[in-house]
Amino acid sequence: MEKVKTVTNEWLEEANASILFIANRPQVVMEHGKGMYLWDTDGNKYLDFIGGWAVTSLGHSPKVISDALLEQSGKLVHASPGFYNKPMVEFARLLTGLSGLERVFFGSTGAEANESAIKLARKYGAVRKNGAFEIITTKRSFHGRSLATTAATGKAGWEHMFAPQLPGFVKVPFNDIEAIKQAITPNTCAILVELIQGEGGVYEAIPSYIQELRTLCDEQGIMLMFDEVQTGIGRTGTMFAYEHYGVLPDVLTLAKGIGGGFPLSAMLAKETYNLFEAGDQGGTYTGQPLAMAVGLAVVGEVLQRKLPQQAAEQGAYLLQQLHGIQERYGLTDIRGKGLLLAFDLPEPRGAELVSACLHAGLLINASSPSTIRLMPALIVSKAEIDEMMSLLCSVMDRIYRGD
Ligand SMILES: *Cc1c(COP(=O)(O)O)cnc(C)c1O
Repeated sequence: MEKVKTVTNEWLEEANASILFIANRPQVVMEHGKGMYLWDTDGNKYLDFIGGWAVTSLGHSPKVISDALLEQSGKLVHASPGFYNKPMVEFARLLTGLSGLERVFFGSTGAEANESAIKLARKYGAVRKNGAFEIITTKRSFHGRSLATTAATGKAGWEHMFAPQLPGFVKVPFNDIEAIKQAITPNTCAILVELIQGEGGVYEAIPSYIQELRTLCDEQGIMLMFDEVQTGIGRTGTMFAYEHYGVLPDVLTLAKGIGGGFPLSAMLAKETYNLFEAGDQGGTYTGQPLAMAVGLAVVGEVLQRKLPQQAAEQGAYLLQQLHGIQERYGLTDIRGKGLLLAFDLPEPRGAELVSACLHAGLLINASSPSTIRLMPALIVSKAEIDEMMSLLCSVMDRIYRGD
């Protein structure tokens, strides 16, 4: 049978021949994007509910990002990580003011922000806690793909990945305060958790769990670190997910949505943890002026357009639509906050559904064989949600019900 897509696409042939294999990618090459849509090199159009993997918070190719890049690149592309620069100072002021944490270190990826947090926790243990070095993390968590963050990650099957792994991470079940209490020893310097486990399948932390963690950490002099790489900057309906819990962490990591697609991350920390000495931490691109200018533009736009509030409203509408089709398709455990949502399928046929949706012009993510995750841009409209629902239903009618 002839495929709809031309398999002779020269871009695709070259991609398959020259890009190092890391994943079974769909056989398309993306070319341009606008708002909620992407187009491939064959001219096919896709409605994007992956949102650049919870990254393109303002949609695809927003004018504010191109304007910021154009303006900043005409002034200063790169000074040196050895100098402060103007957009770096402005962005630091904005983020520290918004978060209530007084210090910030800038990086390019979520893994790098978490590496910085891990180093800061170990530094804290070394100088203030008799050499304590252990960091407690949770099962089913995701913290990145560098060697330290791989070791910190609680994904099943990752325990022996790239062995020998960096020691010093203790994994406990998520949402289990007793397990944390049991795991704390004099060697514990920090606890690192996500408030919603995003890659793990969109599982929310219980408020009392996070509140009890704060009390426990205060009592025992342990750093409380929130990985908000996926949940930060409006995604869950508030600027930071910790606002839902009324708990301020000691360290907060941000990436994904903060750059709207430009590589940018941040680790924020309380003044009392401003502990690095010269040479402990750095990076050629820390505070990179183009990244800083984009971050300022993106976060400024998120604030000005009240996108956290919009994410809460559109997320509630999307949830309501999903509940409306729940029975028809046997969907279970519809969950999430704001525009970070997921549901389970009656059978583990997620990959098949994702692929069928792609061919129908809709991009969705299967975070596991039986879980579908939706994380569209924060600018998504009700009309685009309706369009997504109708595409999803027509595909599910075909593959599940044979209609
Ligand atoms: C994506 C993600 C990371 C890793 O970010 P990268 O930019 O891919 O390094 C870390 N933590 C969480 C919670 C994430 O969702």
